[in-house]
Amino acid sequence: MKYIFDFDDVLFDTHSFKQERLFSALEIIGISKEECAQKYHKGGFKNLQLFVTDTAAEYGKTLDDGTFKIIEEKIFKNIHVFLNPDICRFIMQKEKENCHILSLGDRDFQMRKIIDSGARDMVAEVVIVPKSKKEWVIDFAKTHLDERVHFIDDTKRHVQHYEFKILHNLHCTLYSDFEDLKEMEL
Ligand SMILES: [Mg+2]
Repeated sequence: MKYIFDFDDVLFDTHSFKQERLFSALEIIGISKEECAQKYHKGGFKNLQLFVTDTAAEYGKTLDDGTFKIIEEKIFKNIHVFLNPDICRFIMQKEKENCHILSLGDRDFQMRKIIDSGARDMVAEVVIVPKSKKEWVIDFAKTHLDERVHFIDDTKRHVQHYEFKILHNLHCTLYSDFEDLKEMEL
């Protein structure tokens, strides 16, 4: 059995990470959590540097490199606390070589979360795709036709593709809590 884990809101509690770190990190330059969250939801997030400098600029603040570094440190310090303990235990029981992380978004930001949280060391491979996970999952399932491939993601549009249904070895779980994963294992 091969496992493909989504990172955000599956292996990592991204919702809490945003609330407790990303949105509150700009408080040191006088931008509130609410203001930061509003900017995030309005403008989309391309990469961390752009997000921080754009948000600062919108509120009339300028950022020097030193301040950006402090903000970055506040965001990423000890982020292993956001790992999902159930999924971590689940992965630890599997062979590392059978576990993969498939994540969507800005490569640098995603890798920083995956490495700093400790998730990188738990899996054989990390793949970051810019837009769609579909093609990678199909390719992966096709190259492991003699094995069951289990793809776990919390976003409907990532697991519900017609092409997935015709791959007999591919099984998808729309993850909302750990019970979903236990069912899939039976
Ligand atoms: Mg996700």
